[in-house]
Amino acid sequence: MDISKKDSIDMNFKHVTVIGLARSGVAVAKLAQEVGAHVFFSDASDSTIVKKAFNELQKYGIDGEINGHTDKIYDADLWVISPGVPKNAEIIQNAQSKDIPIVSEIEFASWFTLAPILAITGSNGKTTTAHMLYEMCKTKDIHPVLSGNVGNAFANVVRNDLTIPDEKRVHILEISSFQMEFIQHFKPYISLFLNLTPDHLNRYDDMDDYVSAKMNMWSNQTHNDFLVFNADDEMLSERIAPAQATKIPFSLKSDSHVLFKLNDTKIYDKEHATLIKLDEIALPGKHNLSNYLGSATSASLLGIAPSRISQVMKTFCGVPHRLENVGTVKGVTYINDSKATNIDAVKVALESFNSPILLILGGRDKGGNFLSLYPHTHLVKEVLTIGESEEAIATVLGDAVRLRSCGSLMSAVEVAHSNAQPGDVVLLSPGCASFDQFDNYEHRGDVFRELVQGLKEYS
Ligand code: ADP
Repeated sequence: MDISKKDSIDMNFKHVTVIGLARSGVAVAKLAQEVGAHVFFSDASDSTIVKKAFNELQKYGIDGEINGHTDKIYDADLWVISPGVPKNAEIIQNAQSKDIPIVSEIEFASWFTLAPILAITGSNGKTTTAHMLYEMCKTKDIHPVLSGNVGNAFANVVRNDLTIPDEKRVHILEISSFQMEFIQHFKPYISLFLNLTPDHLNRYDDMDDYVSAKMNMWSNQTHNDFLVFNADDEMLSERIAPAQATKIPFSLKSDSHVLFKLNDTKIYDKEHATLIKLDEIALPGKHNLSNYLGSATSASLLGIAPSRISQVMKTFCGVPHRLENVGTVKGVTYINDSKATNIDAVKVALESFNSPILLILGGRDKGGNFLSLYPHTHLVKEVLTIGESEEAIATVLGDAVRLRSCGSLMSAVEVAHSNAQPGDVVLLSPGCASFDQFDNYEHRGDVFRELVQGLKEYS
């Protein structure tokens, strides 16, 4: 099948294989069927989630297989693969050698919508910023919908819009680097780049490979589109230089070419009027200020009024598991930052408080550099380690900070409870993946919240 020209793609009666069901696969399969294709799905696993997906698709009359791939997958005009499938997997190489075009879910879904796309990527802050932007855009003239990495598959949203079209629709898409593999025509009206730091290095060969995947986001943009970027991130600024899109920076440090300027007390809009006083902003941390500047710049390009932007800055209280305050027990504040699955997120968390910190760190090591945390530990009284990476953390940080091995999250919370003084912060900001002891980061954060709730009840 020729997919080189987006406008002439016709899915009617085409054979589409959907590889990988767990995340967006179900949504893709349904969308492909909706636009007239014969769909076959295939998943290597037979996990509970996959079995559930299998049953759901059977109800829709969509055929497929789980618990392994058969050669039926190659009987296809097009493959749509889920972001969970590594691009060097053998089946992908086989399909490529048979000249079967392969696209990602995001690419495929983008063929069936004319609504403007606002896509957000970066190593950290995507979900928070996507929610900020969503709130800013919710006005009478714009009907934003949030999808992508945030849980709601883009393919689902696009399929719903085919049934009930909405002229005011704007897609706000949170994009991970995995979702930017196998891109062909995907073209956001605004792409928002927050930062670039090493993450997911266990899946990519090196940083360059990881960055290249993210850069696919602007590859089809023209000068009529916008690329909003964090000018404080040097590597990012270098990497976006070749982009054709109209580039609009945002920055905590520089006034050059930005739409929103900043001094020590206020943010000013492009008319030089005060947008907001910094002490009126709801979310703590300089990183969130940066996220706000990125979202405000993008919202402003969409025509959102400064009054709406500042209203959201005053009221938006963040997203669970990102520096979420889960309570105070005996004068000690407990913060759930379970989503901090890489070292840079831990650094910004440590910089967001002015009180002594007991830091709960560890989990499944993603190859991050724990030693680089050291310059940010001036307020850290004690590091309480958990999970598989305890030894790796102790090896590099053991001589530099006071460190205690706790094994489990439960024991770390108990130790924190007995060692913390009123005014201290107990911060779960693990800097690692959760899969050694939990189903996912949400599970880890929920367990932390429950443990803190337990402390409240027994105190
Ligand atoms: P993502 O969706 O990119 O993973 P989240 O908004 O879920 O980002 O936040 C993940 C973690 O990164 C949280 O611990 C959060 O406090 C932290 N974080 C948020 N914004 C930034 C930023 N701009 N720079 C660094 N870390 C950030």
